[in-house]
Parts: sequence; C-alpha cells; structure tokens
Amino acid sequence: MNKDTIAAIATPAGIGGIGIIRVSGEGALSIARQLAADLPASIEYRRLYLSKLTATDADDPANSTSLDRALVVMMQSPHSYTGEDVVELHCHGGLVHLQSILEAVLRCGARPAQPGEFTRRAFLNGKLDLVQAEAIADLIHARSEAACRLARHHLAGRLSHELTALQESVAKALTLVEAAIDFSTEQHVYQLDETELDSTLGSVENEVATLIKTYDRGRAQRDGIRCVIAGRPNAGKSSLFNRLLNEDRVIVAATPGTTRDYVEAELLLGDCLFTVVDTAGLRDKAHHVETEGVRRSYQQIAQTDLLIYLMDSSKPIDEEEVALLEQLEKPGILIWNKCDLPPAGPPPTSPQKWVGPLHTQLNTDQSVDEVFDAMIQASRMAGLTQIDESIALSRARHRDALARALDGLKNARKASSNGLDLELIALDMRLALDAIGEVLGQVTPNDILNRIFADFCVGK
Ligand code: GDP
Repeated sequence: MNKDTIAAIATPAGIGGIGIIRVSGEGALSIARQLAADLPASIEYRRLYLSKLTATDADDPANSTSLDRALVVMMQSPHSYTGEDVVELHCHGGLVHLQSILEAVLRCGARPAQPGEFTRRAFLNGKLDLVQAEAIADLIHARSEAACRLARHHLAGRLSHELTALQESVAKALTLVEAAIDFSTEQHVYQLDETELDSTLGSVENEVATLIKTYDRGRAQRDGIRCVIAGRPNAGKSSLFNRLLNEDRVIVAATPGTTRDYVEAELLLGDCLFTVVDTAGLRDKAHHVETEGVRRSYQQIAQTDLLIYLMDSSKPIDEEEVALLEQLEKPGILIWNKCDLPPAGPPPTSPQKWVGPLHTQLNTDQSVDEVFDAMIQASRMAGLTQIDESIALSRARHRDALARALDGLKNARKASSNGLDLELIALDMRLALDAIGEVLGQVTPNDILNRIFADFCVGK
C-alpha cells in the first residue's frame, strides 16, 4: 500500500446538494476517525455512517470547529476503487465549504491528490488495466451517447478480454517455439509444427489487423466526427455553417475570401458528436492572407472524416474541381447551393460513396434538416458510426502499439516460412506480445503513464 495518503474533492467544482471528498492510502481510516469522532468503535466497512465532522483548530488544539453532518463510508484494502484503504465523506456541496473540509483532511496527514492519482493507484494495484483506466477518463469526458457507450464497453473489459485472448494465443505458440529451441540439441528432437505455428500467428494477425481498422470509428465515436465544409469562395460555406449551428458565429459576406482561417463548432446529432469546421474558400490565386487560409483549408480537408462540399449552382461547373473531389478519397456530401438563382447548368454527379447533391438555398431560412440527415447517412456509409455492439480502438496509443504487434507477427511468420533461426522467430513473437501488453499497461513506460493520467481530473 502507498505510504502517503491522498485526498481530493471528487465532485465537480460548483454549487450542488452533495459534495464528496475522497481519501486513499494507509492513513485514510485514521483520518476519518480524527474528523468523525462519533463513529462507532467497531465499524462495518462499505456502510454509510451519519456523522458529525469536526476539526481541531490549527492555532488552538483544545478548540474544535464543527464542519458538517456528513455520511462517512470506509473501505478497507483491497476492497476499494484504488485497492487501498479509502474513505469518502459525503458532505453538503459548495466549493468553499468542501475546500475547508478538504483542508481539515490535509491537516490530519493527507496530501492533495494529483490529477488521476486515484485511478493511477487503482491501475498500479491491479484493480484495472490501462485500457480500463483510460475508459474511466473517457466516460467522465464523454460528450455524446456514442462516446459513453464506447467507454462503457472498454471499462467492462471487452477490448481487454479480446487483447488478452490474442496474447494467450501468441504466448502458447511462443512456448512451443522456445521448447523447440531448448530441446533441439537433445537426442529426442522436439519438432515444431510450422504449419500450426503459421496458422495460429495468421489468425492472430487477422484479428489484430481488424482491430486496427476500427480505430477511425472509435476515434470518431470518442472525439466526434470531424466534418469540414469546403468549396470555392462565395459558394455559401459560412451560410451553411451558421445555419447548422443556428447562430451567427461567422460573418457571412458577399466578398470572396471573408473566411480567411477556419472556425469550428461542435454539434450533437442523434447520439454522435460532430465537429463542424468552416474553412476559407479554395481558390488558387488569392492574396497573401487568403493564401494562408487556403493552405489551412487543404490541411483541414486532409484531416477531416467527412467533407461537405458546396458548389454555386449559378456558376458554370469547373470539371477540374469535380475531378479533385474524386481524388480526395474522403466520404462526403455534395451541396448544390443558390438554387434560387438561374442555374448555369445541371448539377454534377457526386463522387462515389457520397451523399447528394442536395439542392439548397442557404440565404433563406429553408430547413437544413436534409443536411443533418445527410451527415448521419454519410457517416454511417463511411463506417464512422457504430452499427452493432462491436468494439473499437479509441486511442492512437492503442493503434500504434497494435501496429507494432502486427509487424512482429508478420515478421515471425515470414521468418518461419523462410526457415530462419527459431531464435529470430521467437524474438518477433516476443515483440508482438510486448506490444499487445503495452496497450493493457503491462509493459508501459512511466512517461507514457504520466501523460495518460495527467489528462484526468483531480479526484479521479
Ligand atoms: P462562403 O465564402 O462560401 O463562406 O460564402 P458565404 O456563406 O459567405 O456566402 C456568400 C454570399 O452568398 C453571401 O452574400 C450569402 O448571403 C450568399 N448566399 C449564400 N447562399 C445563398 C443562396 O442559396 N442563394 C443566394 N442567392 N445567395 C446565397
């Protein structure tokens, strides 16, 4: 158990009926007894006790101040969130009030907890693996039902179980390779079944490759679907952005090049979060400031999950522009705007796997529901929304480690089929095992752990 005892306010800073102070570590139970002197001598763990919290005055130890009537619960190691002795004080809410109780706790011997330190201790004490610890942060920060669902799946251990099963298959196969290495010089030579090895590694390789492919969906579920609005200057991009967000956040102007940089805003559609980005118009010959905006627009397009591309129906179609959209290989929605004006020609056909063209008049208050529906439809077609209960990787860390695992598996199979030394095959298999273990936090360097837990809030 950790020698030092940590404490923090676990509920959000603000006004609320109840606020919880959490204490964890070797001194937690004795701190509770110092503050809640009326607790029975023998308590039941994990049971709430209504108690009077009092603090001894720092300047005058003979005097004490009444702090609150609170519910106190004690949890004995290892049966707690952190795996240590834990105490929770369920007090009245209010920032000043809770802060003064926290200070009393600190005076009794605790120190303020760092962000994510409770969860870090839970992880270090084997209560959670790293995927589950990250899922707790994701659950707390979830801004859409889709993000919440994914975090719950990870917290329930669905991804961890799958990874553990893959690890076990590789570990079992590795045992056979190592046995072949160890006994190859003995009289009864242990013969490695290379076909079986290839088939085991091949099936793990397929599963790892499938998991890696789920990353784009998982990221979109967790962080939101990035949706960039692009098109030539004056096509109506800012008008669409404003209509989608139902507010005049961006100045809509008739002079080309008004949106010189990009503006983004979040939008909840159904259970998915979308980050809508309004960019500068795409135009080759622009003046200096706009050129920078156009450069950034291309950058935004490269990073987007979904493109909403607007065309002005009153202007002749630029075939090069249509060809460019095909080349982008991004899913998208084509919008044929300014349909109130006389058309310069028929609308183009949308690139493959795009939704549209939708006919709009964005300078009127015509409903943009059609665009919302198209955003959901295009995301679904691009595989960015969850259609079943299948799991997905949610962080680049998972994807990168599994990409290394995939390399290891591929190299091991190649080495085996080329009849290379068994030691080399074993080495690649160990690399694959370690990479999967890294996702679960079994072999994760300290600086990576520091980065992961720094994203947590204090009190979690
Ligand atoms: P952006 O440069 O692509 O962001 O275009 P804006 O949204 O700033 O629009 C450029 C101009 O076109 C503004 O004067 C808008 O009011 C106008 N506009 C936008 N949509 C329509 C439309 O459907 N019909 C007509 N007639 N004008 C529009």
